[in-house]
Amino acid sequence: MGDAMTARGDLPVLGQNPHVTYRLGIMGGTFDPIHNGHLVAAEQAFDDLDLDVVVFMPAGRPAFKQNKRVTSGEDRYAMTLLATSDNPHFIASRFEVDREGVTYTAETLALLSELYPPNVELYFITGADAIAEIVNWKNAENIARLAHVVGATRPGYDLAHARQAIAESAYDFDVTYLEVPALAISSSYLRSRVEAGQSLRYLTPDQVTGYIHKHQLYGVQPTRYGSTAL
Ligand code: ATP
Ligand code: MG
Repeated sequence: MGDAMTARGDLPVLGQNPHVTYRLGIMGGTFDPIHNGHLVAAEQAFDDLDLDVVVFMPAGRPAFKQNKRVTSGEDRYAMTLLATSDNPHFIASRFEVDREGVTYTAETLALLSELYPPNVELYFITGADAIAEIVNWKNAENIARLAHVVGATRPGYDLAHARQAIAESAYDFDVTYLEVPALAISSSYLRSRVEAGQSLRYLTPDQVTGYIHKHQLYGVQPTRYGSTAL
């Protein structure tokens, strides 16, 4: 104990006052690339659930995307850092990127709950489309035990399916659903736009677009000035 309140690596310091409950938001994802949907969802979770800070954790090797081509952890982390850099209560963390092997949410939450004192509550933020699946994730009972779950609704998504999956689960999930303003943005959509030479403006922070062009990600067509469309 004792130094449990000290920040580990790039994780925020939280839990200093034992008489106060702190709320740590965790936004996990591949972030290939991060976009305004992720950012708006996290900001709304911060507001609505009175979180102290939201940590964005790009997955090292995402459990669900092992057969797909995923941009390097360094690039995904760098874009996440750029996208969160101007928000005082957002933090980008290398916590998962630096871990060997496939990263599972239950394991991340277990490590975090050991690092932080008991007066720090964990809020795992995820898209509502993932909520219906979470009951089947590896060690789902640990996720239910260690964290509150925040389900951001994506446009067109019917919550009935998610609610039913949670209700039928053997584990006691605590889920809060959040109405996030209509955002049909996805990383796949951004990647396909880059490939087609289309603009990413207003879909992700311009710094992220700049990084994509500078590092020629997602099949971007380089020019002498580093970009085709901003
Ligand atoms: P891909 O299109 O490659 O699947 P994605 O946009 O879904 O990417 P991820 O990195 O897979 O991005 O998602 C990280 C987390 O953010 C997931 O919990 C996902 O459900 C959620 N999320 C993704 N897009 C949005 C959005 N527009 N609004 C709210 N939550 C979102
Ligand atoms: Mg996705």
